[in-house]
Amino acid sequence: MDPSSSNLNTSSSVTRIRSKLSVVLPGKIYFPGDSEYDSSVGSYFFRTARQTPTCILKPNSAGEVQAIVNVLSSDPGVKFAIRSGGHTPNPHQSNVVDGVTIDLRSLNEIARVGGNSDVLSVGTGAKWGDVYDYLEKAGRAAVGSRESSVGVGGFITGGGLSFFAPELGFASDNVVNMEIVTPRGILCANANEHVDLFRAVRGGQGNFGIITRFDIKTHERNTFWGGGILYPESTEDAQLQAWSDLKNGKYDPRAAVVQSYLFFGAQKSFMISNNMVYLQEAEHPVGLAGFENIQPQVEACPRASPTSRLNEFSSAVYVTTTVKFSPSVCKRINSVWRERTLLISDSPNITSVLTYQQFPLQNKGIPNSLGLHADDELHKDHLIVILSIYWHEIDDSERITKVAKDTMDRMEAVAAGENALHTFKYINYAAYWQQPARSYGEAANEAAREVSAKYDPQGVFRKQAVGFKFQ
Ligand SMILES: Cc1cc2nc3c(=O)[nH]c(=O)nc-3n(C[C@H](O)[C@H](O)[C@H](O)COP(=O)(O)OP(=O)(O)OC[C@H]3O[C@@H](n4cnc5c(N)ncnc54)[C@H](O)[C@@H]3O)c2cc1C
Repeated sequence: MDPSSSNLNTSSSVTRIRSKLSVVLPGKIYFPGDSEYDSSVGSYFFRTARQTPTCILKPNSAGEVQAIVNVLSSDPGVKFAIRSGGHTPNPHQSNVVDGVTIDLRSLNEIARVGGNSDVLSVGTGAKWGDVYDYLEKAGRAAVGSRESSVGVGGFITGGGLSFFAPELGFASDNVVNMEIVTPRGILCANANEHVDLFRAVRGGQGNFGIITRFDIKTHERNTFWGGGILYPESTEDAQLQAWSDLKNGKYDPRAAVVQSYLFFGAQKSFMISNNMVYLQEAEHPVGLAGFENIQPQVEACPRASPTSRLNEFSSAVYVTTTVKFSPSVCKRINSVWRERTLLISDSPNITSVLTYQQFPLQNKGIPNSLGLHADDELHKDHLIVILSIYWHEIDDSERITKVAKDTMDRMEAVAAGENALHTFKYINYAAYWQQPARSYGEAANEAAREVSAKYDPQGVFRKQAVGFKFQ
């Protein structure tokens, strides 16, 4: 269920706690009309997420976040949203109408942990670009977003897919410690302390508390091979063959590819793009040669991505699924996408993107909450599928969202028909009507219920925080 549709009668409750919030956070509570408020609302990446909360809080420290949580838990009628980078396109997940939005962007400190260059402490409000700038000087890299404007908090708590995924798994599996504000206080969660919480929050977003800081592993990296290539849609069969060759060859954890089928409404043209990275210096690495050699090519550009071509201030919908790769299933999914895209191709400047991403290497360390097992080896033959549609005409929102939902339903039916549909839905690309946390399976949901009962017995995060929920 979209939590924004719950029946909490919030506006009067927010009014009730307003004075309490002003006391614990003097000068950092903003209302409609304040320039800080307008700037916070306007800074969400997508227009669809620019909701207008009753007030916005901008804490500067974990202690201030704790004070906010204490006030919010004193009134179960108040809805609230946790916001880091503000990149979700979903309307009511890091922002909320008729409630309180906690804007964490001031918690953006980046520092080495105890002078150790292997671990970096990153505030939840930092952007990945800030992390990369910091690490570049030290010749190191981190498992983070492929787009530098994405926020650290939402990305990691949702899992985090990167070019390192085939080698190092989800970003959340590369975290060694987290500082979390829970109704039980400010806690550290790691392999030794609050291990159950450490497991639950990696994939669980804001279900258990507000993560204020992540200590992440860094990796020595020098030069990568990589780039983006754009091809005409007539190369589809060759693209599917290149996937087959990559999947059927010896597993190469350094070869990362993101493949997108693109429709550019402005030109009314269908294209295909591959964004590739080889995680060490190499001339034409074998695993990626199949993609690199496909002809004809429209344009070769360094590290271009479909979203870098967009006006970032558009409305957007993302919806996702997971399939076992085979050329036939992907070809049928592509056909569904092409056919359904034509239904909305008249919307001015619309862009529709069907993306295939490699499933990350399965976690062999401290378990996360994603419900995946190392033995499943999904990284060998599964792909995460994302349909993302971007548009400008507000009046088109309803019909485009409807088409997105219908398209995904049809793509999943095709995959199910070929016995290729996996239940896992990646939370960071899920649409608000999907149930990604539930897709982790019953055992993960049972564990989540226990962790919630232990650290948040009153259910502050389960009931009052908006966002995807466990069962
Ligand atoms: C241009 C673009 C590029 C992207 N690239 C990638 C990519 O390469 N790989 C990938 O995996 N995903 C990618 N994404 C998806 C992205 O990972 C998700 O949208 C992610 O949730 C964004 O994190 P954020 O902090 O910016 O989001 P927000 O919108 O601030 O938050 C998203 C969710 O996380 C919760 N949350 C945020 N911070 C916290 C916290 N501190 N504690 C608890 N809960 C929290 C929020 O409540 C909300 O439910 C991309 C998205 C965009 C728009």
